[in-house]
Amino acid sequence: MGALTIGASVEVTGIDVEAGRVRRVHTDAGTIESEVVVIACGVWSPRIAEMAGASIPLTPAVHQMIDIGPVPMFANATKEVGYPIVRDMDTNMYERQHGNGFEIGSYAHRAILMDPDDVPSIAAAALSPTMLPFTKDDFDPQLEDALELFPEIVGDESVGVKLAINGLLSLTPDGNPIIGETPEVKNLWSVAAIWIKEAPGIAKTVAEWMTDGRPEIDPDRIGITGHSFGSFFSTIAAAGEPRYRGCAVSGTCLEPGGHAIFEEASPTFKRRFMYMSGCTDEAAFDEFRKTLTWEPYAAQIRAPYLCCTGEFDPLSPLDHTERLFDVLTVPKTLVVYQGAGHGIGGVPSGNLGPTFTTLMADWMAARLAGKMPKSERWLVDATGHVHKTDL
Ligand SMILES: Cc1cc2nc3c(=O)[nH]c(=O)nc-3n(C[C@H](O)[C@H](O)[C@H](O)COP(=O)(O)OP(=O)(O)OC[C@H]3O[C@@H](n4cnc5c(N)ncnc54)[C@H](O)[C@@H]3O)c2cc1C
Repeated sequence: MGALTIGASVEVTGIDVEAGRVRRVHTDAGTIESEVVVIACGVWSPRIAEMAGASIPLTPAVHQMIDIGPVPMFANATKEVGYPIVRDMDTNMYERQHGNGFEIGSYAHRAILMDPDDVPSIAAAALSPTMLPFTKDDFDPQLEDALELFPEIVGDESVGVKLAINGLLSLTPDGNPIIGETPEVKNLWSVAAIWIKEAPGIAKTVAEWMTDGRPEIDPDRIGITGHSFGSFFSTIAAAGEPRYRGCAVSGTCLEPGGHAIFEEASPTFKRRFMYMSGCTDEAAFDEFRKTLTWEPYAAQIRAPYLCCTGEFDPLSPLDHTERLFDVLTVPKTLVVYQGAGHGIGGVPSGNLGPTFTTLMADWMAARLAGKMPKSERWLVDATGHVHKTDL
């Protein structure tokens, strides 16, 4: 209908903002006056946002993948994808048929992160800007894993490597897409860190959101919940956002500095958190983890607070949770499951007592309905009985 113009090779060079609202976009082919701008530029999105003084918190991160073939077993494959994808959770990899080839992807290698400004230009890139030269040493251990799982395909010496790349993905702090109007600039939207698999649904949802808003969400009835490390982040978020009506957490990570989770529990916790924080130096990470504390913030929490925890949570000893409760000035409920660990399941108190997820949902529903809880400590004993004392 003439409503859409596509500028496939046009580069955005600047975005003007006036009185906090987006006004126009500069490109190498001219200037476009616009009241609304959507940034959907994958790993480049932070650079485009910066042009308007906004920020999109994603980091380009390498995900290694090789494509081997032609594979004799797939010689008669009639479909581009005709077999199920294998997700090998033990090795953090996937394997999948693709035409007559076999793709092997890995999330197990060291963190290889990049600054969005360092992503090469199309002219400077050998293949494409998001397909960087393959670093074989990083992939070799994963190739061994793939060989063990698929010896007939990966071990077949007639099967060559068709493509091997250090592909760039958008890594975000919580692993989720970054969708919505930027907090800094009105009518400047981020639709970044989207995967192909969810792209159509997200496009539809964002178009509706931009057109009609989110009438299904009542801003007066929003609560926050988190499990495991989410218990920490929910607590911090609740301290910074007075509009929450309730904060319910479980499976605690409430030890300031995280000594137990990072120094006493499985070393994979530390490795994963180092990966997520982009920190390859353990000493630097140890300094960073000391900043993970609710201590300066907890007194600011304005919403009623619920915590369901195991009596012997090995990732976060109970006394840290009790210290947090001492600081909270809001109506608060501490539910301790006798003998339970981090996941609260697998022990009599967790099996016979109130199911903690249901308890949290009911507690939150009551908060969103405007009812205030009494401040209490509950002990769920090994017979499932609940003993309540005032806090
Ligand atoms: C090895 C590998 C395997 C993957 N496998 C899967 C999978 O199986 N399933 C899945 O769903 N996803 C997969 N992904 C992820 C998926 O490829 C990406 O999430 C997706 O391509 C991102 O799409 P996008 O449109 O947001 O960004 P992109 O496809 O990166 O597009 C961004 C566009 O913005 C343009 N741009 C940048 N700067 C400017 C500027 N200044 N002006 C104008 N234009 C600009 C770029 O030229 C580019 O065309 C994989 C990724 C990798 C690396």
